[in-house]
Amino acid sequence: IVDVSTLKSWLIRFAGDVEEHAAELTELDSAIGDADHGSNLARGMKAVITALVDDEAPDSIGPILKQSGMTLVSTVGGASGPLYGTLFLRMAASAGDCDALGPQSLAQAFRAGLDGVAARGKATAGEKTLLDALIPAVDTLESALAEGTPFDDAIRAAADAAEAGRDATIPMLATKGRASYLGERSVGHQDPGATSLALLFRAAANTMI
Ligand code: ADP
Ligand code: MG
Ligand code: MG
Repeated sequence: IVDVSTLKSWLIRFAGDVEEHAAELTELDSAIGDADHGSNLARGMKAVITALVDDEAPDSIGPILKQSGMTLVSTVGGASGPLYGTLFLRMAASAGDCDALGPQSLAQAFRAGLDGVAARGKATAGEKTLLDALIPAVDTLESALAEGTPFDDAIRAAADAAEAGRDATIPMLATKGRASYLGERSVGHQDPGATSLALLFRAAANTMI
């Protein structure tokens, strides 16, 4: 069960992980992009946490996710700002104004977020983007829960799937975003957005169980 305090712990953990891995994310983006993914996302998540601890901050699931999404859109910029922002905004709309999400509602929220990101970026699996971590993570969470797997194991499996998806971007040819400008030269590099997305799911596994 993801209650308000768990949701906040997840966001705080992710912000810390992004901060810790900012140089690595930027290094990956320097190979196939413009060397700003780590700094972009670290700035955005720092703003998310600042907004989260404000006295006026919302204190229920949907509104917290919505505030976080809007903060990411307005502070991250680039391709990943609107995409991460859309993930959280669609999760917010799916979750609604409630005090906690059960496993099924959480999986539904992630599915809604994924659909929003895919529509917003007009991308699909295999294009060497953050979707290549997000799609397997959400698919795995859903199918594990459908098979009756306990939530703890399901969210851990989702994080494992996100990391496998991240690794699988290395041989891919980028056909979306800045990396696509490189054509064949994008092959052999790990996608920065898939790398940060895997951190998001590992942070979920580390805080939601
Ligand atoms: P920018 O490329 O504008 O500098 P970032 O460096 O912050 O933005 O983010 C780059 C990441 O955004 C890529 O590694 C990729 O995962 C993701 N990305 C780019 N375009 C798309 C898209 N159309 N759909 C999904 N993800 C995308
Ligand atoms: Mg970049
Ligand atoms: Mg940029």
